[in-house]
Amino acid sequence: MPEWEAVIGLEVHAHLLTATKIFCACATSFAAPPNTHVCPVCLGYPGALPVLNRKAVELALRAALATGCEIQHRSIFARKNYFYPDLPKGYQNSQFDRPLATAGFIRIRAAEGERNITIQRIHMEEDAGKLLHEHMFDDVSSNVSLVDLNRAGTPLIEIVSEPEMRTADEAHSYLTRLRQLLMYTGVCDGNMEEGSLRCDANVSVRHFGEPLGTRTEIKNLNSFRFLGRAIEFEIGRQVAVLESGGRVVQETRLFDPGAGETRVMRSIEEAHDYRYFPEPDLLLLDVSSEWIEDVRRSLPELPTARMERYQRALALPYADAEALVATRELSDYYDATAEASANPKLAANWVRNEVLRVLNDRKIGIESYRVTPAMLGRLIKMIESGAIGGKIAKEVFEEMSTSGEAPEAMVERKGLSQISDPAAIREAAQRVLEKNAGSVEQYRGGKAQVFGFLVGQLMKETRGKAKAELANEILKELLGEISTPS
Ligand code: ADP
Ligand code: MG
Ligand code: ZN
Repeated sequence: MPEWEAVIGLEVHAHLLTATKIFCACATSFAAPPNTHVCPVCLGYPGALPVLNRKAVELALRAALATGCEIQHRSIFARKNYFYPDLPKGYQNSQFDRPLATAGFIRIRAAEGERNITIQRIHMEEDAGKLLHEHMFDDVSSNVSLVDLNRAGTPLIEIVSEPEMRTADEAHSYLTRLRQLLMYTGVCDGNMEEGSLRCDANVSVRHFGEPLGTRTEIKNLNSFRFLGRAIEFEIGRQVAVLESGGRVVQETRLFDPGAGETRVMRSIEEAHDYRYFPEPDLLLLDVSSEWIEDVRRSLPELPTARMERYQRALALPYADAEALVATRELSDYYDATAEASANPKLAANWVRNEVLRVLNDRKIGIESYRVTPAMLGRLIKMIESGAIGGKIAKEVFEEMSTSGEAPEAMVERKGLSQISDPAAIREAAQRVLEKNAGSVEQYRGGKAQVFGFLVGQLMKETRGKAKAELANEILKELLGEISTPS
């Protein structure tokens, strides 16, 4: 059986984080009462004129520059004509043959390592309204569909990839990294549940080395899980069709999460003819080199650059670097902790293992976490200087995660300082040996593993505060004296 290769291209829509809509002064808001953020422009009243929102263009430019796109100095809005109840104007304003940006890329994680996926284009457009299909009455004929136009005119960018992904995992990584970039740059809040980020997946299959096969487009995958499941299902379905001698039909499909399958939504014959033409009510979008450079300078350090810095300058492993750049807030937190502790490696362990675990357990974000980078940095310094032992440090960390108490204050208050005075440890060790005469006997009889037990007893005797190396050393010394009596 010849092997099949899947080919995947993603089209991603992202709401831009502007205060107002793309062509009018209405507020953009997710949860407002229906039809309270509307005006003649976004309702499509005849004669109302659109004015392009400069902030929307700036955010689109941020996304385009963060993905390494070429910015087109001149781009054009066009009318995409179709009829639907959530589209009061009868057309959507979009960019068609001359988009704002082209030829960018997203760096993804693939099985063989990192790889760039080409972004074909990024263009601006407006969102449509929302339909709510309500079951209001028992009498089925009285059921209604309601229209909420608050979302109509919300600024969007559409980011279109080349068909360069080969597995569901690669598509997952692409969307993860794209979403991460949009959030780092403040372009989009990345909320897939609320529809701020929406993804359509184009999927085809072919034998290795053959030209591209016929694709289907799967609409509205509103979670990472659905994206993966829908692509896997669709690959399997197409392979089955082809292997049974059939042909894949170009069509739009919808993923049904309940059934775990994709279903036909419309075939190519039902595809719209959008009759695109240039929007006569808007000027050509003219973006100057100065503006582009201003936006470029205002970008934060991006996740890929941070990952490289972590790996190269701080010698962190790939997996640590990737985990620490997950969000800009986490990455900033790590940077500050690394600096405060003066030990980037130890700081990476603490943030990646302990801090992330606590955040995950409590389902909170780093911004509402009580332990500041300064506090964690000082805790790490206390471990390094030997002021407290590793086990105690974990306890202090756990408690300060809840109380927010400063680590020094807690150590002081609870008397948790590490005991590194040999005389004090020897005294405690002697007590332990007296209390455990039986074990000492066994040790003397050649049962070496009893030593570990005795160390444990000594740590217990000192409430975990004895410096571990000293505890070992002194215990050995004392047992030596016992086992070779003079
Ligand atoms: P349309 O605008 O009609 O959706 P495009 O040619 O712009 O069509 O392609 C849309 C998306 O489909 C892009 O992300 C592209 O990468 C992807 N695509 C194109 N051809 C294929 C194919 N044969 N298999 C999988 N994806 C494809
Ligand atoms: Mg499409
Ligand atoms: Zn409006």
